[in-house]
Amino acid sequence: MNMLEVKPDIEFKREVGRMSGSQLNQCMQCGNCSAVCSLAPAGRPFPSKEMTWAGWGLKEKLLGNVDVWLCYQCGDCSRYCPRDVRPADVIAALRMKNYLHYARLRFMGKLLSRPALLPVAFLIPVAVIIIILSAAGTFRVPEGPVDYSAFFPHLWLNSTFTLITLAFYGIAFTGLMRFWRDMKRLVPAAGPAKKPLSKLLPVLREIFAHSGFSGCASTRLRKIAHMMVFFGFGLLLMVTLYAIVATFTSNYPMTFWNPFKIAGNAASLMIYGGLGMMVHQRIFNKQIFGKSSYTDWLLLVSIALLTLSGTLVEWARLGNWAIDGNHSIAYILYFFHLVAVWFVIIFLPFTKLGHLVYRTAALLYARSIGRK
Ligand code: SF4
Ligand code: SF4
Repeated sequence: MNMLEVKPDIEFKREVGRMSGSQLNQCMQCGNCSAVCSLAPAGRPFPSKEMTWAGWGLKEKLLGNVDVWLCYQCGDCSRYCPRDVRPADVIAALRMKNYLHYARLRFMGKLLSRPALLPVAFLIPVAVIIIILSAAGTFRVPEGPVDYSAFFPHLWLNSTFTLITLAFYGIAFTGLMRFWRDMKRLVPAAGPAKKPLSKLLPVLREIFAHSGFSGCASTRLRKIAHMMVFFGFGLLLMVTLYAIVATFTSNYPMTFWNPFKIAGNAASLMIYGGLGMMVHQRIFNKQIFGKSSYTDWLLLVSIALLTLSGTLVEWARLGNWAIDGNHSIAYILYFFHLVAVWFVIIFLPFTKLGHLVYRTAALLYARSIGRK
């Protein structure tokens, strides 16, 4: 569509207003929010133009908009807005609208963004895991000491979970491609653009260093909390990959003093610490965090439950937990842990955790066209 052909979409405007809690009509387009935003590029700065477009319901200009992904939600713009229109919350709501618009399978985006549909989202992994266990012929509490591989044989677990993850990510990738096309259409390169892959290393450096957080005036604690969860999560993924390889060797299950096990437990502690800081800030520092949405909480709670259930599963195995000689408690915890894996890892493209992918793509595009 030609950029001049955008049409107001009042329903889109209402939805963004509802999600952000912002009275969009109150914006007087003074530009103060862009002036105080330390991340806004000099040419076509955000978030004031997004506020104007949101107020007009110009959906086509806001879906695939690269700038909403350059914002790190520091809240400076909201603090200095003379009309209290909460531009930071509006930008967060626009990011959410982007997830939902580009999510493929589209119904998965809806499923994971509406509290009323949470039971359905929960039942999908429960049903699939039961089907796999039934096919493997192991859907029962095994005899003897706690041994998760007797409940869910490694070959079945690794092959089915890997295939399902690749299938979900492959379908989601088509949505990401549409997002990329829309970014190019909405903000074409002013001059000769660099190849996006040539910007991969600088962008990864930017992400790993959390330099976007440093640009804002009031985000030191947010940066520390995000780093703890980000690196803790990354470390845990590496330990999990090692554990998958170890199932093919005699190195499994790992002992408590195995260096990878120690690294996994250290990663869990980092995640607990980071999540604790995030929750505390969301509850007690609303001035910076603004309005926390259902998807914000779903992600925090999912990561917390994944990490906690992982810790309990480990303790249950090491302590050979049983009630009256029955080890079902350990296997119930293990089952729940696998459901949590679905919510965080397999559902990633449809939850707020998808920002890992969308923000990376937006940064790659922005840097390739020289937008800083
Ligand atoms: S959101 Fe607030 S600061 Fe930004 S342009 Fe509107 S009134 Fe001004
Ligand atoms: S929240 Fe911070 S980074 Fe985002 S637009 Fe406002 S001032 Fe800029």
